[in-house]
Amino acid sequence: MTSFTRSALNRVRRLQERGHYDKATIYPIIDEALICHVALVQDGQPFVIPTIHARMGDELILHGANASRLLQHIERGEPVCVGITLLDGLVLARSVFHSSMNYRSVVLFGRGRVVSEPAAKLAALEALSEHLAQGRWQDARKPTARELKATKVVAIAIDSASAKVRSGPPGDDEADYDLPIWAGVVPLDLRAEPPEPDPRLPDGTAVPAYAAHYVRR
Ligand SMILES: Cc1cc2nc3c(=O)[nH]c(=O)nc-3n(C[C@H](O)[C@H](O)[C@H](O)COP(=O)(O)OP(=O)(O)OC[C@H]3O[C@@H](n4cnc5c(N)ncnc54)[C@H](O)[C@@H]3O)c2cc1C
Repeated sequence: MTSFTRSALNRVRRLQERGHYDKATIYPIIDEALICHVALVQDGQPFVIPTIHARMGDELILHGANASRLLQHIERGEPVCVGITLLDGLVLARSVFHSSMNYRSVVLFGRGRVVSEPAAKLAALEALSEHLAQGRWQDARKPTARELKATKVVAIAIDSASAKVRSGPPGDDEADYDLPIWAGVVPLDLRAEPPEPDPRLPDGTAVPAYAAHYVRR
């Protein structure tokens, strides 16, 4: 399956031309975003929890403390909705009404399971570590048995998803193009500053390339 089925759940209704359902659009957005926001409802009360994620195939991996409300919710097989947003620019239109943002966002739906089989759990933790910085897993100390026991890992099957993408200049009302007001896009990008070495590093410890030249895309 290369695209998600359009359904009442995932069909983009507002500005439908911005909606995408193919994995070729959706998965790179998930992979580029550093964090996601997971929404759940318990006893009628909604919660939105920001957290680190990684994608393994058609599953979204999350991890955290055993006592995490979110992870326990997922362990019970309850549904979640996950929002992921990449901000690409400020769209400054001539009118306030048409001012907007350029973005690539994903909303996905699914239910999860706990990943407890040791090799699979370690692979999921590696995926999370590599999502942060590619190459880090190789360099960092691996989790101990005690650390693994204290960590819950879940995999959410991505059952349904959509992307919404806005790009390009403002779309003003025709009558407004004559107004003497600057309009355009202020591009935004997530860029790393030069790394700050831990003061407790021994002198001469080399900065790995993935930290020295960290890029997200
Ligand atoms: C950075 C950013 C800023 C935005 N600012 C505004 C704003 O100020 N005002 C505003 O009205 N809207 C804004 N949007 C768009 C907003 O996310 C919704 O798409 C829009 O408000 C329609 O909401 P709705 O509840 O009618 O969605 P519907 O179209 O009814 O949603 C139906 C289904 O479409 C999919 N969907 C909807 N929105 C998105 C999305 N953004 N990404 C992926 N799938 C989606 C979901 O699967 C959802 O279940 C913004 C989006 C982003 C990413």
